[in-house]
Amino acid sequence: MRNPVKEEKQTVLLGLTLGELTEFAEQSGQPSYRGRQLFEALYRQRIQIPEQISTLPQGFRDSLGKAGLSVGTPKIEKKFVSSDGTVRYLIGFDDGQNVETVWMPEGDRGEAGDGSDAGDDVQAAGHVLDRATICVSSQVGCAVDCQFCLTALLGVKRNLTAGEIVGQICAVLNDQHVSPPHDRVNIVFMGMGEPFLNYENFIKAVGLLVEGVGIPESRMTVSTAGIVPRIYDLGAEPMRPKLAISLNASNDELRTRLMPINRKWNLEKLVAAARDFPLRNRERLTFEYVLLNEVNDSAQNARELGELIRGVRAKVNLIALNPGPGIAFQTPAEGRVVQFQKILRDVGVPTFIRRPRGRDIYAACGQLKRTVELAAS
Ligand code: SAH
Repeated sequence: MRNPVKEEKQTVLLGLTLGELTEFAEQSGQPSYRGRQLFEALYRQRIQIPEQISTLPQGFRDSLGKAGLSVGTPKIEKKFVSSDGTVRYLIGFDDGQNVETVWMPEGDRGEAGDGSDAGDDVQAAGHVLDRATICVSSQVGCAVDCQFCLTALLGVKRNLTAGEIVGQICAVLNDQHVSPPHDRVNIVFMGMGEPFLNYENFIKAVGLLVEGVGIPESRMTVSTAGIVPRIYDLGAEPMRPKLAISLNASNDELRTRLMPINRKWNLEKLVAAARDFPLRNRERLTFEYVLLNEVNDSAQNARELGELIRGVRAKVNLIALNPGPGIAFQTPAEGRVVQFQKILRDVGVPTFIRRPRGRDIYAACGQLKRTVELAAS
């Protein structure tokens, strides 16, 4: 039988599934239920040192340590706190690479109207309830090269493993002293990177978050810049987050200019995939649209967008550009954003304006660049 830990030279436990941990326990001469105990300890209790897993017998705990196995929770290297309560974490891995993970104590209302528990929370009574959103990264940097996004300036360094994706969430939950499922936590795969260019690890992380950490799939949203084949793959998954698609333009000419990936999968292919996406009861797809002053935010663009997505069971999230050094676009005035929203609403598209969170600490959408020197920016 394959030993999942030894054969893959894995020294880190975080990222292993229940099945893999069970196999590992058996290989270590332990009863198979020790796998379940390890699983609970790693993901539900989020214990960070194998020797402290008190449900395991002392002998097994000691052997874990002797075998050089660690839990592998990544380290919080830096923490920036915004005036609005948002926290941007710089989280480091063993090879020296790091990513950013954002904690939004009250979310950004991104889930409003998406037909899920998380969306209902936002709309209930029109005020913020006791819930938080974690925005997680899927890659170190990003290869997609969207012209308005700071992460694009980094290029892509590598994919994150499933353990590193889940590990960001464990590190933040530990730091915030919050524990699902008792505490309601939403997850958005909207940090650094393109989750659909690291699909296997992303989907493995989803399974660990649902079954291990205790965050229901209805509280998770994955956003893609438009990797069309993976949209079909996601639709076929037995367990999956809600889907958001970063549209950002109302026609191909404009979208290719802003998001070069549009050359590979144009709007026709992308919107077709959206139309074909098998939605659950009540569920809505989300289209994100970053508004760039006088580039893609005219009344004409709004009408064109309404036409483009007509008939898709979807809502639109408008995001006024979060500015950054090296980004050649401006943030539209609020009046233009509201006008854009009104035109879409008038043609029957539920449209919401995403609240910018943590702009002052470079934690908002499109601002994740591992900025350490805030004063310089
Ligand atoms: N790569 C995926 C996941 C990142 S989600 C994707 O592109 O969907 C990040 C969201 O922020 C995307 O919808 C993106 O279009 C948006 N965004 C990027 N740069 C931005 C900026 N400067 N201001 C506001 N939103 C931005």
